[in-house]
Amino acid sequence: MTIQEFSAHLPSARQLAQNLLGSLQRATRDPAGGVTRPSYGEGEQVAHTLVAEQACAMGLEVTTDAALNTYMTLPGTDRSLPGVVIGSHLDSVARGGNYDGAAGVVAGLAAIHLLQEIGISPAFDITVMGVRAEESAWFRHSYIGSKAALGLLEPAALDARRIDTQKTLAEHITELGGNPGALASGHAFLRSARIRAYVEVHIEQAPSLVQRKHPLAIGTAIPGNVRYPNITVSGTTAHVGLPHRFRNDALKAAAEFVSEMEALWRAWETQGKPMAFTVGRFHTDIDNDATTKVPGIACFSVDMRAYDENDVRTLDQIAKQIAGNLEKRHGVRFDFGERTTAPVAKTDTAMSDAFTRLAAKAGIPAEPLPSPASHDAAVFAGAGIPIGLILIRNEHGSHNPDEHMELDDLVAGINVLTRWLAE
Ligand SMILES: [Zn+2]
Repeated sequence: MTIQEFSAHLPSARQLAQNLLGSLQRATRDPAGGVTRPSYGEGEQVAHTLVAEQACAMGLEVTTDAALNTYMTLPGTDRSLPGVVIGSHLDSVARGGNYDGAAGVVAGLAAIHLLQEIGISPAFDITVMGVRAEESAWFRHSYIGSKAALGLLEPAALDARRIDTQKTLAEHITELGGNPGALASGHAFLRSARIRAYVEVHIEQAPSLVQRKHPLAIGTAIPGNVRYPNITVSGTTAHVGLPHRFRNDALKAAAEFVSEMEALWRAWETQGKPMAFTVGRFHTDIDNDATTKVPGIACFSVDMRAYDENDVRTLDQIAKQIAGNLEKRHGVRFDFGERTTAPVAKTDTAMSDAFTRLAAKAGIPAEPLPSPASHDAAVFAGAGIPIGLILIRNEHGSHNPDEHMELDDLVAGINVLTRWLAE
């Protein structure tokens, strides 16, 4: 197949993507701005119905699992072969953007549509997966749908309450016709041995590609992280006039911790070592503190992420060293509290190389880029499945109503994805 022949079919894939993204936007529009598709809520359910209807119209096999993930499969000519899964999530944060997650499902369906138009029948099954509940905003658990599909959902997650309804995840799944009991027992709908590769197409959610003026990037890794949601620094509450040498100022120790970690980030950036350090919450004992008091307590959260396990470990160690030094300098105590981690997920080199080569062949500039955000693909990588990640340029970030993506950039991603499937 020549590039010209291939390109001749792209407009009809573009049309499909445009129609489906338009329907999703209209059906899940939030009167307060953007779209809202709560995990196991109305907007997400509507999105699953819309993509399933599209898949039925294309003659695909459509099914769901106990967690109500949607699977839309183009059967291969040899069904004994392990298949390819193209997945992304269909939920959103409240008043989020239309493309975060949904663009990947649309890209998968448009790629299958292209294969059908061109008349290519792959040997193996190609399944587009509409993943449930990726956004941790609703149940404060990440990757619920993808973990459930692979039998990896922590049973405790089923008792998590959705922040708006206060109903548990198990209740929500039951309400929509799913089977939380099967999830609690660790039943896996997807078995890793039956999946030769998992591909996710996702908007970048950061401005690197806009800045580079490139429509696509090939994701190299999804960051691993260490999180401390509740660090407490304890000093001594005192009078505002207390001389410096007598103070045990919790807030200033906490502030110095933040600025030293910030300086470390700058240094790593200069060395070309990607990482991120975020303090999402930072406060004193707001009920007791005042303009005329030296604060005795400071509380804050930390998220540290990097793209190499050694770097994640190093960040954790450096944070502890900095805290240790500040304890001596300020006469305070750092209690790091609860600690959670997520491993780094590297994309498959052979797949990434193929994406890069096929993009070049199609005349699309696509550089390697570490993903700024976390994605369901990380769960598949954790289950030993080779993953590939195609990042699409998008403006105005994500998780806000201004999130924007040019349809032509998504079509560039569909182009590369389809060429790879055809190969
Ligand atoms: Zn997303």
